[in-house]
Amino acid sequence: METMEIVRRAVPPCAIAACWLWETLFPARQPLALPRRRNAVNLAIGFSNAALAALAFSALMAILADWTAAEGWGALNLVNLPFYIRWPVVLLCLDGFTYLWHFANHRSDWLWRFHQAHHSDHHLSATTAVRFHAGEIALSAGAKMTLLPLLGFRLEELAAYETVLAAATAFHHANVSIGKWDAIVRWIVVTPDMHKIHHSIDPRQMNGNFATILSLWDRCGGTFQRPDHTESLEFGVHELTDRKFHGFVGIWRTPLQRFSRAIRGLPGERPPS
Ligand SMILES: [Zn+2]
Ligand SMILES: [Zn+2]
Repeated sequence: METMEIVRRAVPPCAIAACWLWETLFPARQPLALPRRRNAVNLAIGFSNAALAALAFSALMAILADWTAAEGWGALNLVNLPFYIRWPVVLLCLDGFTYLWHFANHRSDWLWRFHQAHHSDHHLSATTAVRFHAGEIALSAGAKMTLLPLLGFRLEELAAYETVLAAATAFHHANVSIGKWDAIVRWIVVTPDMHKIHHSIDPRQMNGNFATILSLWDRCGGTFQRPDHTESLEFGVHELTDRKFHGFVGIWRTPLQRFSRAIRGLPGERPPS
């Protein structure tokens, strides 16, 4: 196995483990009464998603990347950029796409059915970083597959981006605080306090801070929310507080629940009374 491949596989679990150790030793807030086995359920969801991605999408993505390179498809292949320009451009393209995709997950009723499984966690910790519904993982992989021939990035560039994404996601979901440094660091990357606002149960706060690695997207897109008073935030989704939505099967069944757009602060029918 190549060194880069070993690093790529090792970073996500190591990032989760490091953030778990950090939040265990220096928690930003003491969690309220949590469902038993919450961390184990989130990790089981993460493992099953990783297996799905490896079995269903890795080979397809590799074939598509080879075909794209052989045909010279994509905007990035129109010019021969040196690597020190190409890599930042790839980062901006993929991270900008991730921001728009996340925004779409909150605006589309259909995408929200899957994404709400991530938001239903009523505590934020390192394991929330891998709590995504498999349907969202599959849809996101499909969207990236259409992006590949359009932009023409290489498989190793996507893999490098996904590795940084995994580490950044573990960091900003962790139950930690970097204190006054948060205000400085969030000018560049998404911080724990910044992402806490996005997990608020209050729809006015949930509809902000969609960025994943670079915070500039929220500042440019007008969706940035200053993370004040994060210590008093309540996390989760109003209609998904029942315990039945927090087990392994419950998370899988979450998309079957259709809720009012009002819980996301969107115009539409009124919430069920
Ligand atoms: Zn979200
Ligand atoms: Zn999140």
